[in-house]
Amino acid sequence: MQNKITTPADLERTQQELSIKRNLKKIKRKIVVMSGKGGVGKSTVASMIALMLSIRGNKVGLMDVDLHGPSIPNMLKISSGMNIKGQHELSPFEYSANLGVISMGMILQKQDEAVIWRGPLKISAIRQFISDVTWGELDFLIVDSPPGTGDEPLTVAQTITDAEAVIVTTPQEISLADVRKSINFCRQVKMNILGIVENMSGLKCPHCGEKIAVFSEGGGKKMAGAMDVPFIGEIPIDPEVVKLADEKQLEHILEKKESDIYRAYATLIEKIEKG
Ligand code: ADP
Repeated sequence: MQNKITTPADLERTQQELSIKRNLKKIKRKIVVMSGKGGVGKSTVASMIALMLSIRGNKVGLMDVDLHGPSIPNMLKISSGMNIKGQHELSPFEYSANLGVISMGMILQKQDEAVIWRGPLKISAIRQFISDVTWGELDFLIVDSPPGTGDEPLTVAQTITDAEAVIVTTPQEISLADVRKSINFCRQVKMNILGIVENMSGLKCPHCGEKIAVFSEGGGKKMAGAMDVPFIGEIPIDPEVVKLADEKQLEHILEKKESDIYRAYATLIEKIEKG
């Protein structure tokens, strides 16, 4: 019988596998925020879920694996890079006592730098975000995954085998068509779907208070019913979100406790906490 030769690369991989298992064991729940299309508000929803869970006393990690368009550092004003301690030890950015953040945007030297990477490099970066980051004991790890069903969500699904998916959509058919693909992706990789969130779900007229269905209405709920997945949230359009995100101060939405958007997020968070 031939002896199998163990190469340094094999050893490194085994060690990484062990680190991934060790780190994930300390995290109670892992939630991947996905979308079929870009621009539906996925990163905003991922950030808001992480912020709200953290102010409710949960220990939370926010991991941005949208390697080509990392927007979390911009929305949350994370200017510093990653804190590198040893060869295999990175500390997340301490956004608050309860919230740590890691994003590709924290590694890039220049803000407008483009990441031109093929699959294997992306897979390696995502695995390192789990194996080499000192996340510690967490109640929730929120993962912001790029739109679609490519290398990034696949790597997350294969690496975090007990991850749950939150799929963000807008109400109109053009967005829903791609969400059906995301649902089928989750089914294929056996990722539990926590639910569908409809974002940009109507705008309250500032003059008469009536709801304007800017991107149509109720599509997310109908689709969730048809595809037999839970519908867990309806977030209205609020121009303040755009303004605050552009000013890198998204967390100030949390001060508007009387607003429809705050209430919509509070309802969503309760559902997420219940699981
Ligand atoms: P994605 O991650 O899906 O590409 P983003 O989270 O970057 O989308 O959001 C796209 C744009 O939509 C941003 O300008 C963001 O501020 C805005 N946005 C997200 N959700 C809402 C909302 N509920 N109301 C108004 N604007 C929103």
